[in-house]
Amino acid sequence: MNHEVALERYAELIIRKGCNIQPGQSLYLGADAESRDFAIKVVEAAYQAGARFVHVDLGDDRIQRSRILHSQQEEFLDHIPRSLPVRFDEAVEEQGAMLRLVGTSDPEALSGLDADRTNRCRIAGHKAATRFFDDGIGRSAVQWCVASAATIGWAESIFDHLDGVAARDELWEQLLTIVRADREDCLGAWEEHNRQLKSRGKALNELKIERLRFNGPGTDLTVGLSHAARFEGGGAISQRGQEFIPNLPTEEVFTTPDYRMTEGTVQVTRPFLVNGTLVEGLTIEFKDGVLSDFTAQKGGETFRSYIDSDPGARRLGEVALVGIDSPVFQSGHVFREILLDENAACHVAVGNAYKTCLEGGVEMTPEQLEAIGWNSSTAHTDMMISNEEVDVTAVTTSGDEVPLLVNGAWVSQ
Ligand code: ZN
Ligand code: ZN
Repeated sequence: MNHEVALERYAELIIRKGCNIQPGQSLYLGADAESRDFAIKVVEAAYQAGARFVHVDLGDDRIQRSRILHSQQEEFLDHIPRSLPVRFDEAVEEQGAMLRLVGTSDPEALSGLDADRTNRCRIAGHKAATRFFDDGIGRSAVQWCVASAATIGWAESIFDHLDGVAARDELWEQLLTIVRADREDCLGAWEEHNRQLKSRGKALNELKIERLRFNGPGTDLTVGLSHAARFEGGGAISQRGQEFIPNLPTEEVFTTPDYRMTEGTVQVTRPFLVNGTLVEGLTIEFKDGVLSDFTAQKGGETFRSYIDSDPGARRLGEVALVGIDSPVFQSGHVFREILLDENAACHVAVGNAYKTCLEGGVEMTPEQLEAIGWNSSTAHTDMMISNEEVDVTAVTTSGDEVPLLVNGAWVSQ
């Protein structure tokens, strides 16, 4: 693949399909400072698409580490500078576009920190963006997209045998293939892929599923769905009426569970990060809708502190189906970055649930949402639960059992 050409195509994909920037619209772009060169390509594509203004915020996780580690008073960690919510609110009010390029230059930056201090900081950050989460994302006022950009530190954490620029180049190669930017007709390939995800979602909705059953080695899990649950996948429509793709890549069809119906044991099939610490070899038990017990080979203490950080963090907020045809799964790598890893396998998330996956959910009162088992939390972490050995079966409201995935692969497209 011609690396430079593929990078241009990827920037184009992010702007034209991911954010779908419209003439006169502003873009808010956040990225790691090491991704500056790629961020500039994205900025160029945005102005060429007619952007009014591109706000660029280049950061570094070590800045956050420094704050959590050295803040002399715990209360300082709750502080929200006035400019922070202003920026989020502005994006919502002007119906702008919000792009986050993930890929930290220092995967270790947030590890080994005091868990309570880290959670305190995370919760304050979440509060600063309340309106963005409620209206920007929840009511699609903003066209938002999360994509990735390769950095050396991130790449070195994935590939044992490669260092420095060689590792970063290999990661770019993988990322560009996964997002189909190696194909000349990248935008066309995404239109086709988007259609397939939409038709999968539609087929699942027509089944009228009451429960999903996951079965495999160490896994016997039931996830219940309310009558209002709707499967979504691929692009979303903003208040401006524009289709955008919230995640690049996206390979999932997902919905909001009735958290009260979660029951059984599940083995997590891939490591994942919690507050910067890798959690590995996790087996979880759910009783009466609550995460009641777990064992972990690594990162258990961090995971415990996370699920105890608020009451909703022990209940499910998402269930998603991904087949082994996913290019992320096919790559054979664990990327240690949830944007990619969640698109490798079926997953469940503890924490906050999307109202947009509930029929009429955005307009429901807190009481109505509670009545159908919608979960609210400041947390949201995806945990991958499938591979080539896991089957997924739908139990419909009329009691039929329909195999959806067998040995990790979709039964029908
Ligand atoms: Zn997901
Ligand atoms: Zn999720």
